Amino acid sequence: MVDTEKDRIKEYDEILDDLKTTFMEKWKMKRIDDVTLESFERFRTLGTGAFGRVILVKYKPTSTYYAMKILDKAKLVKSKQIDHTRNEKRILQSISFPFTVFMEFCFKDNSYVYMVLPFIHGGEMFTHLRRMGKFDESLAKFYAAQVALALEYLHHCSLIYRDLKPENILIQDSGYIRVTDFGFCKMIDNRTWTLCGTPEYLAPEVILSKGYGKAVDWWSFGVLIYEMNAGYPPFFAHDPMKIYEKIVSGKYKFAHHFGEELRDILKNVLQVDLTRRYGNLKDGSLDIKRHRWFKSIDWIEIYHQKVQPSFIPHVTSHSDTTNFDHYEEVPLDIASVDYYGKEFAHF
Ligand code: ATP
Ligand code: MG
Repeated sequence: MVDTEKDRIKEYDEILDDLKTTFMEKWKMKRIDDVTLESFERFRTLGTGAFGRVILVKYKPTSTYYAMKILDKAKLVKSKQIDHTRNEKRILQSISFPFTVFMEFCFKDNSYVYMVLPFIHGGEMFTHLRRMGKFDESLAKFYAAQVALALEYLHHCSLIYRDLKPENILIQDSGYIRVTDFGFCKMIDNRTWTLCGTPEYLAPEVILSKGYGKAVDWWSFGVLIYEMNAGYPPFFAHDPMKIYEKIVSGKYKFAHHFGEELRDILKNVLQVDLTRRYGNLKDGSLDIKRHRWFKSIDWIEIYHQKVQPSFIPHVTSHSDTTNFDHYEEVPLDIASVDYYGKEFAHF
């Protein structure tokens, strides 16, 4: 059989539809908490966020290492993040894609909610990007291809991700990536209105509080492609208000070494006009996948992880944390009373 482009597209469409069926089945399932904190041996902190931290743990029954995301219920209530946390958990328990994390266990106690994820050994893309300065164009393209497939999968499941940035992209010991942090991810019908994300990566329509949709992820995807290739983001200033001004003006400069193909995909993705932004036109993600910057990418080979990565992070054991920064360790402080039982009844 001749392997035409149409056949390839159809083949991947079928993969996506199967993945969506699996997602929908898990989405409807009620999850029973089957573990407690006592089932885990706790090690050091891998990362921190506004509402908690992620620590390395070992699940005692199987001696398997995981990353445990611990969120402080009081902080979540104070900063009105209960809905976001509920979304995060339900989404993490439902998704299964080679380039996104997923949830193995979850549970809660009087003070915290816990989500247990596979431990991704290679650390944040952020760390490697800062260390290398910038990525070779072929490595940037290899990562961009996986992120494009991850966004396409999430969008196919009616999810918008809303927090794409190098800190939330982890590198596996295979050299392939997994996107983590579904704290802002949301199931949408069409458009949504909440202001969230990270200044440098926000789309103009988010800043201008217009209703927005999946196109915001393609905007951030453009910011990511730029930053991986340049070593710094396209819209930058010390004052977030200045960043926002630059973003809504849509004006940025290419790094001098950017080639024509790279400039062209960026022009089309970092497009303020939503009726012209790639990813948001009638052919959806296909405009991006077919763009000439990606001409060397075989999307199905990437999906099946058949392409040899040009960078493999240094990992020595199942519990090696050397790819992660150091953070101050703060012991868990579990209250004797559950003040927020009602707010987290559905977690
Ligand atoms: P923020 O919202 O401030 O970005 P957060 O509290 O939502 O942070 P995450 O981004 O989910 O938390 O995780 C914080 C950090 O913990 C990540 O940037 C990463 O360094 C580390 N981390 C998260 N998940 C994993 C994982 N599965 N394996 C290894 N490290 C992880
Ligand atoms: Mg994060």
